[in-house]
Amino acid sequence: MSDPIIDLRSIRREFAAGDTQVVALADLSLSILPGEMVAIIGSSGSGKSTLLNILGCLDRPTCGTYRVAGKNVSELDADELAALRREHFGFIFQRYNLLGDLSAAANVEIPAVYAGTNARQRRTRAGQLLSRLGVADRGGHRPNQLSGGQQQRVSIARALINDAEVILADEPTGALDRRSGEEVLRILEELHREGRTIVTVTHDAGVAARAERIIELRDGKIVSDRRTATEATHMPAPAIPLGSRDSGTGWANASGRLREATRMALVAMAAHRLRAFLTMLGIIIGIAAVSSVVALGNASQRKVLSDISSLGTNTIEVFPGKDFGDARAGKIKTLVLADARALDQQSFIAGVTPTVSTSMTARYRGNESNVLVNGVGESYFQVKGAKLAMGRLFDADAVRNIERQVVIDDNTRKTFFADDQTAGIGRIIWLGTVPCRIVGVIAQQQGGFGSNQNLSVYLPYTTVQAQFTGDRSLRSVLLRISDDVSTTLAQDAVTTLLTQRHNAKDFVILNTDDIRRTITSTTQTLALLVAAIAVISLVVGGIGVMNIMLVSVSERIGEIGVRMAVGARRSDILQQFLVEATLISSIGGLAGIVLAVLLGVAINMAVPGFQVTYSPFSIGAAFLTSTGIGIAFGFFPARRAAFLDPVVALSRD
Ligand code: ADP
Ligand code: MG
Repeated sequence: MSDPIIDLRSIRREFAAGDTQVVALADLSLSILPGEMVAIIGSSGSGKSTLLNILGCLDRPTCGTYRVAGKNVSELDADELAALRREHFGFIFQRYNLLGDLSAAANVEIPAVYAGTNARQRRTRAGQLLSRLGVADRGGHRPNQLSGGQQQRVSIARALINDAEVILADEPTGALDRRSGEEVLRILEELHREGRTIVTVTHDAGVAARAERIIELRDGKIVSDRRTATEATHMPAPAIPLGSRDSGTGWANASGRLREATRMALVAMAAHRLRAFLTMLGIIIGIAAVSSVVALGNASQRKVLSDISSLGTNTIEVFPGKDFGDARAGKIKTLVLADARALDQQSFIAGVTPTVSTSMTARYRGNESNVLVNGVGESYFQVKGAKLAMGRLFDADAVRNIERQVVIDDNTRKTFFADDQTAGIGRIIWLGTVPCRIVGVIAQQQGGFGSNQNLSVYLPYTTVQAQFTGDRSLRSVLLRISDDVSTTLAQDAVTTLLTQRHNAKDFVILNTDDIRRTITSTTQTLALLVAAIAVISLVVGGIGVMNIMLVSVSERIGEIGVRMAVGARRSDILQQFLVEATLISSIGGLAGIVLAVLLGVAINMAVPGFQVTYSPFSIGAAFLTSTGIGIAFGFFPARRAAFLDPVVALSRD
């Protein structure tokens, strides 16, 4: 007589039902030999399913010992129990428990996936089993496209894919018509003849009669245990090596399971496309908003700073007015030529350029346009960094002699001399009623000088005062500081001097260094603000992911139970949901990056002189952030799925 493959001693299983304890199994002892075909019968509620769950290591007894091939299962941890289920037991359920999102063949392959069998072997073996069970042509169908009998055959194939020695079937024919039921019984008998141990739970006496041993339960106790065959036909015990017979726990195996988890996650996302998209939307918007705001901020800072540096360094400009943006600045006439002369006497000032400005109608041969007339000194162009395109600039003599020489900008040239080879040089243009000779054209500068759409012309300030404005007040005085003097000191000295001359501080001094500092610090404050908003929006996106993953887990508790029953480890379940959360958020992150880049391209095309760029570093950071969100916020739901109790999960359908 061989040793029992299944050996229960004084097994008790109690369930807490409110305040009372329900005893489902009471001190039950039972041995089953390898190769036996056993039917367990009894009325509903007698404890049959509870017993089968304990046999299959889905559930643990409250007390008593259970040995499988001599090994005490109470000494095994969750993963070792999963290995036992995966490699030695095959489950057949009354309701088939196939996964609806997968094809029949893919359902059959699941236990082999967790066993680490390679894809090609898996596919071949699933095909062989399906054809052996007479459903070869149904491998590509979804479970809901199959009849009950066909589904049960697919589930038997799943039970056999890892070549289980013990088949545990709970009411396998309970949901089938008589003919399909008969077919399933015939298959079970065939498996029995191959030497497998078959344990079937049934309440149908006809089904029970096909077994060679019938055990009857009542109120959790065995009330009869008899043999139908005169002679037991059980086989010698096949050796069950209780260690894992995985093809390995190596790298190939792990990456194969990861690939499978990814495939499953994609299947799950495809099954709930709208939901996956809406979940992604939070991440998409978050990542797109953050990346484009950061890029826009960088671009505008770059532009402003480059505009400022085109003003030249080591210069300060004095304007009338109490403060920047003083609305009455235009009416304050206290900044006059005498101030500029006085400043010119100072040793720390290397150059003084008074400026005046007014608006005029310019005319040339019947062409007319409004222009901004700037009266400036001869050194103005150099200080402002303007470049001559054609002709020449006016000199100090022209300023002294109040000559009517005019330098035009590129916009003015385009307006009046678009087709003129000489670009207007040497021609007479009328500014109001004053004819002026054009001596030069200055080039258009990207960003800085003369980049807007206005037409500007430049004359000696003496000419503008004499011919147009008629008074001595100035728009500003541009000062170039000597190289060996600090800008701050010079600024203080200028302030003191002008305050003395005016008996009041009715002017403001613009220092490019100050502006640069202000802009840089403003941008930094803005960047902090954006970062705060970014964190908030990404956390909100992450909570969205977590929420949907929790919904997904509770919707798929049945699926999780089936996967655990066929041998998924906790880490497999954890991985599957974690991969799903990570995929959702990293795909969302990628979409967000694409959206931000498209937005940047659109802005670059719409706004000339503006360069929104995305560095590979910021793209990488955005992608990693979105992936990190998936992992961080997916972990809790995934862990929750992984730690479900297999029986509880299975019974929740
Ligand atoms: P059968 O499969 O023979 O119909 P079960 O094994 O399902 O019977 O149940 C046996 C007894 O244990 C029943 O009284 C049932 O109500 C109880 N029972 C089974 N599972 C649970 C559970 N998870 N919680 C509480 N009581 C349970
Ligand atoms: Mg039952």
